[in-house]
Amino acid sequence: MDRHSRNGESGTPPRDLAILGSTGSIGTQTLEIIRLFPDQFDVKALTCGSNVELLARQVKEFRPECVAVGAPEHAATLKNALTDTGASAKIVVGEEGLCESATRPDVDVVVGAVVGFAGLRPVLEALEAGKQVALANKETLVVGGTLVQEALEQGAGRLLPVDSEHSAIFQCLVGEAERTVENIVLTASGGPFRERAAETFDEITVSEALDHPNWSMGAKITVDSATMMNKGLEVIEAKRLFDVSLDQVQVLVHPQSIVHSMVSFSDGAVKAQLGVPDMKVPIQYALSFPARWEAPHERLDWSEVSRLDFEQPDPDKFPCLRLAYDAIEKGGTAPAILNAANEAAVDLFLDERIGFTDIPRAIEHALGALSPTPAPSLEELYAADEKARRYVEELALPASN
Ligand code: NDP
Ligand code: MG
Repeated sequence: MDRHSRNGESGTPPRDLAILGSTGSIGTQTLEIIRLFPDQFDVKALTCGSNVELLARQVKEFRPECVAVGAPEHAATLKNALTDTGASAKIVVGEEGLCESATRPDVDVVVGAVVGFAGLRPVLEALEAGKQVALANKETLVVGGTLVQEALEQGAGRLLPVDSEHSAIFQCLVGEAERTVENIVLTASGGPFRERAAETFDEITVSEALDHPNWSMGAKITVDSATMMNKGLEVIEAKRLFDVSLDQVQVLVHPQSIVHSMVSFSDGAVKAQLGVPDMKVPIQYALSFPARWEAPHERLDWSEVSRLDFEQPDPDKFPCLRLAYDAIEKGGTAPAILNAANEAAVDLFLDERIGFTDIPRAIEHALGALSPTPAPSLEELYAADEKARRYVEELALPASN
């Protein structure tokens, strides 16, 4: 079979990919998609923070032209690991390395799967360079949504959502006129503590928070799901991606995670996208759009689905949701403060230096103490990010003494 003629995509050249965060949960699942459709893609760049061992294996398999690692010592380890393998990728380092990987002239599509604020600049630069970006890194849109919007308006770049809820909304919107959208319903699993008594939240351990009922994901987003900050970040992500007002975005807890999200239209019709919780489906759609490629992902078995439940989120149990709404309403650097305070607090929780309920407490303190700057530049976003992280780390110091 001709390398360009699989899956009815006759004549379509392979897409040249940079996968930022290829060693993570989204990154490794993206590579699973590439293995399913090897003729559709050429992998030009792969990146990690510090997991050089896995990156070396990926380099041997996918033979990229360029790899980025988080720090110089990892570059040296990677170079050693690749000796005598015949793989000759250029090794670049740090944020500059991520940006170089994202903007290479031989790259058409960038998968943004770095976790957190670190993903912002490479995604912005990729869009400015006219790349198509399949975006998992929601923090980019939370912190730098306005800059992303500007980059999209000015350049030839294009953004396709990977986050399952946003992919669901995007799929519901295909073929619809924008102004016909009445509202968006973002579904949430409710995480592992949906039914747990709020009085016991102080005792939640790291391993309990990392035990998500439906999705297998990286540590940071798994804790975000447990606090429901993930849904707060996703409300902001939806607002930025689909240009709707906050009032038009509703969150509904749906413990089965089968309805990935819904859109209501002006004639009263509601569209939903359903499926088993498997990130490979939205990752693949972001790469195959507008086509759908036949794939062996798990199918929804209706004989096993006896009910679909929906309930309102509990704002007292999960204050992070309210904090996210507060931050987007304040605007300017407030979402950057929210995000950085959350990243710092989640790191401290994972290190067992603060408790689970200290996460929203720290974010609320940071949002109260640090005044937001309106219409921030990229430099101002970096400054707000650093200040909020430092603020939360200093808050935690007495507890660790
Ligand atoms: P992981 O923690 O599993 O992976 C993160 C990736 O980013 C890894 O490759 C990691 O490298 C790399 N990385 C981390 N920090 C840095 C840094 N400072 N500089 C360079 N690279 C870095 O995260 P996920 O894959 O779970 O999530 C990625 C993004 O996708 C997040 O924004 C998340 O919110 C979003 N998302 C994830 C979903 C999921 O199912 N996992 C679902 C929807 C959205 P290393 O391995 O070396 O640490
Ligand atoms: Mg999601």
